[in-house]
Amino acid sequence: MNEIISYIIRFLIGGEKPGELVSLVGYTSDIYKISNYRVVIVPSPFFSDGIYGTDASLPKLPLEEVDGTPLLFGSPKIEWVNDVLVVYADIIASAYFLLTRYEEIRKRNIRDEHGRFPGKQSLPYKAGVLHRPIVDEYGRLLRKWLREARVTKAVDQQPQIKKIWLTHDVDAPFYCRTFRNLCRETLKGSGFFNAWKMFTGELKDDPYYTFPWLLEQGEDLKNVVGRERCESVLFFKDGGTSAFDKPHYHILSKDMQDLLRLCETAHARIGFHCSYDAGMTPSLVVSEKNALEKHTGKKITLNRHHYLASREPEDMDWLEKAGITDDFTIGYADIAGFRLGTSRPVHWINPENRRISPLILHPLTIMDCTLNESNYMGFGYEEALVYALQLIEKVNEFNGEVVLLWHNDAVTTGAKPAVSVDWHRTLFSAIIKELKEE
Ligand SMILES: [Zn+2]
Repeated sequence: MNEIISYIIRFLIGGEKPGELVSLVGYTSDIYKISNYRVVIVPSPFFSDGIYGTDASLPKLPLEEVDGTPLLFGSPKIEWVNDVLVVYADIIASAYFLLTRYEEIRKRNIRDEHGRFPGKQSLPYKAGVLHRPIVDEYGRLLRKWLREARVTKAVDQQPQIKKIWLTHDVDAPFYCRTFRNLCRETLKGSGFFNAWKMFTGELKDDPYYTFPWLLEQGEDLKNVVGRERCESVLFFKDGGTSAFDKPHYHILSKDMQDLLRLCETAHARIGFHCSYDAGMTPSLVVSEKNALEKHTGKKITLNRHHYLASREPEDMDWLEKAGITDDFTIGYADIAGFRLGTSRPVHWINPENRRISPLILHPLTIMDCTLNESNYMGFGYEEALVYALQLIEKVNEFNGEVVLLWHNDAVTTGAKPAVSVDWHRTLFSAIIKELKEE
């Protein structure tokens, strides 16, 4: 447990050299140890035997605040004991609760139709703070307390977005490129000749094949913010037989090979899109990921789950076993915000066996359909843009990462928009434009 406490303190302090300052922060209620530190955080009962892992460990609403930041555990009381600042706000347990998705292991019976924990049932949403990275706010508080205790090195960094990930899940890469598609279109009455034109024509004329446009947007942004600060990733499936995994495409097909070549030319990375099936049965992760490596001839280390349907916190174990080093799944499908309480990449911590994994979680900032779908946020264009920019501003404030998920079939200009709204292309461009000016 000490390793986790020490990691969380280091994560909260943040910046380039948090290591030097970690030893100045204590997490103890032992009066004889207080003088070893400059700032001491007094533990709430959260981690105690008989509390941890029980319903008694869950925070109570409404949340108390410390300096304007909501507190999950402890109280806002702060006092000086000689020259040591003693804080009763248990920001360590509060950060742990959010970073580990602890809530989800206590509420296993609450899942949506895809087995996901719904954002609208989460404590941060109910407390009205999901749009704030409150773990990052705890970090700012801790640095302030350290400065008050004469640790002048505990400075805040200049606001800056550290990294932008433009990501695209390859769910339905093409609209009408197979015999099955051709039959569908013909039967639908949209005209055989029209369908035949798409089927036999050039890939670039297929309405869903918007990848060149998406990658071009990324290229423009990289030219402004620098290649090291912005990357494009396409996540490909290679498995899954459920209805939710349709259409089942083949990586080795000619069109998919063209798409892979496009990624190569545009310097876009290839990630693994774990199927819906493997989300249900995580032991399938390893074979799907190995299949993708075999079929692309590339080492694959990035993952995102299809439908964001990584169900239980401990399922992440299977990603680690499969050699995945970075995951981009963790955001709620129904509400955009900071599911892990942070905008920064963080090691996955398993709340069941309390182990820190080498796997890094990159919190998902915004998925396109979250903003508009009526059972999700149900926004119109203006509201969606304002909300998206508000989240991005928070990322900027706390030196985090912007992770955008835009689907190719959401930005089509062709005859058949996949989504109920036609403004995702405009919205993506508008966000890119703002990111250029950050
Ligand atoms: Zn998907």
